[in-house]
Amino acid sequence: MKILVVNCGSSSLKAGVFEIGDQSVELFKATYERFAAGSCSFKITRDGAKQTGQAPYGDISAVLAALPDILAGQGIEGLDAVGHRIVHGGETFRATTILDAPTIAAIEALTPLAPLHNPANLLAVRIATEVWPDLPQVAVFDTAFHATNPPRATTYAVPKAWREAGLRRFGFHGTSHKYVAIRAAEEIGTPVRDLRIISVHLGNGASVCAVNHGESLDTSMGITPLEGLVMGTRSGDVDPGLFGFLSRQHGRSIAEIEDALYSESGLKGLTGSSDMRDIEARAGDGDADAQLAVEIYAYRARKYIGAYAAAMGGLDAVVFTGGIGENSPSMRRRICDGLEFMGLRLDLDRNQKVDLANHAAPQIQAYGARVRVLVTETAEQLMIARETAAALAPEASVPEPIPVSVSARHVHLSRAAVDALFGVGYQLTPDMPLRQPGQWAAAERVTLEGPKGKLERVAILGPERPRTQIEISRTDGFTLGIDAPVRDSGKLDDTPMVRLVGPNGSLDTDGLIVAARHIHITPQEARRLGLANGMLVDVRIGDDERGLVFGKTLIRVSTRAVTEMHIDTDEANAADIRVNGEGSLVPGLRAVAVANRDP
Ligand code: ADP
Repeated sequence: MKILVVNCGSSSLKAGVFEIGDQSVELFKATYERFAAGSCSFKITRDGAKQTGQAPYGDISAVLAALPDILAGQGIEGLDAVGHRIVHGGETFRATTILDAPTIAAIEALTPLAPLHNPANLLAVRIATEVWPDLPQVAVFDTAFHATNPPRATTYAVPKAWREAGLRRFGFHGTSHKYVAIRAAEEIGTPVRDLRIISVHLGNGASVCAVNHGESLDTSMGITPLEGLVMGTRSGDVDPGLFGFLSRQHGRSIAEIEDALYSESGLKGLTGSSDMRDIEARAGDGDADAQLAVEIYAYRARKYIGAYAAAMGGLDAVVFTGGIGENSPSMRRRICDGLEFMGLRLDLDRNQKVDLANHAAPQIQAYGARVRVLVTETAEQLMIARETAAALAPEASVPEPIPVSVSARHVHLSRAAVDALFGVGYQLTPDMPLRQPGQWAAAERVTLEGPKGKLERVAILGPERPRTQIEISRTDGFTLGIDAPVRDSGKLDDTPMVRLVGPNGSLDTDGLIVAARHIHITPQEARRLGLANGMLVDVRIGDDERGLVFGKTLIRVSTRAVTEMHIDTDEANAADIRVNGEGSLVPGLRAVAVANRDP
């Protein structure tokens, strides 16, 4: 598919054309900016060749209207769709969305959340719809990747009325964080859902994102792109008490303070320049303000890396991107120095000699370091093109009912655990066969104990496993007083400890998880439905008023499987399923399922 990507800001227009297939190819890229007196400057890259100069367009609308001619002049024809970058999707847009009149109106309604960006983005949508009335127009949101952030990460501790009015953290740069996490995983050679990655995007705007097993868990920007890291002209984190202080003591208005936090702060506020190249050069010449700015910048970024490693309970890779992340070896080094205690160590030569040509993502950690460190150019436009193509992909399958089975809390015990709980050499008693062949529920039961409470008579499922695994619901986690992570079965590293109590003794063990929902399926049925092992799909369960779409459901193909979806009791209650229900792949969301899939 040939996709035109349009990224329209308040003072510049970036466009790109990509051929998206098995391989993605960039055909054309252009930037138009510095509009004044009927002209603007442009940069065009076509087949690797660069061209720069002045063009006769006085504003962004004029460039947009001329795009068909500009593309034709470059020999580019036969577009299939237009993908638009939309900065703020609010709570409404959690995934890439095809633009129609109601969608555009809903994006317009979000303008108060992004007063500079969304109107500029929508201007491009309007003009592109007039210029290419027959092409699908697709919105890719900066906020959408962070839709998976849990409430504990998105909720500000402020009065209920404010929260009900929509005050919450959203996060931005989502397309960039998603792209670089996927690119880093590709480079490492491990599926992104098996990695805990921190993506550090350091451009004029800057943010960090904890990408936990392929999903954004937390990110440093908030309801606006002001929170978090020190940026070119934005302050990042400040004490909100400064509003009262500056208003009372210095008579500043809210608008003045907000404006200064956006435009006169960050590197510019500290040094007078927002350009890291200048600042690093001045710091080298002994300028004390520039030296302090470099230190503050690195310190803030390092704090976030530590915080997000803690939030994920571990760290496999850090990936740097954005103008500063890509081009400043000394800033990367300052940020990483001091993180050796986490297993993060740079190789100083590799850090110095980073070459990012052809979407390279070099690894720059020291040999033997536990945490990988990568650098890569962000490619938001390519990602927008991919998401656009995925949203328009024809459906591979018709809806098919899939049996749904509800897993109540249970444990799988290792030999050592059976010995500790029931006595050395004890054999569990198979009581009831389960639908998955060879598996059974035992007659015996155990008690789970946490710091807050107990769960008694918890089922034991056999046969024994090499490692003990305890599967509970989120609600059970509150009963026990332990925050268990959502994990695929068997992925037990860095999971919390819990006490198991049996008739013969007790055992403190890790392995406590909330099981990620999944579908067991045979290879034949998977082929028939167009599914593959490791894919994530959306599944609708129930059509009544309690019906739900369960996103990101993992497909587990096995020759020994009986096709069935497994959800836990919280999920079943939410969809009003008593014991068993029926689900079907959601045809309308099939495109989203493809977009969510691991590379
Ligand atoms: P944007 O967020 O506007 O896309 P960029 O990602 O282009 O911004 O990043 C711009 C920042 O990158 C500027 O602060 C610039 O000074 C910095 N930068 C670019 N090249 C270098 C370099 N070689 N060394 C240090 N900083 C650099």
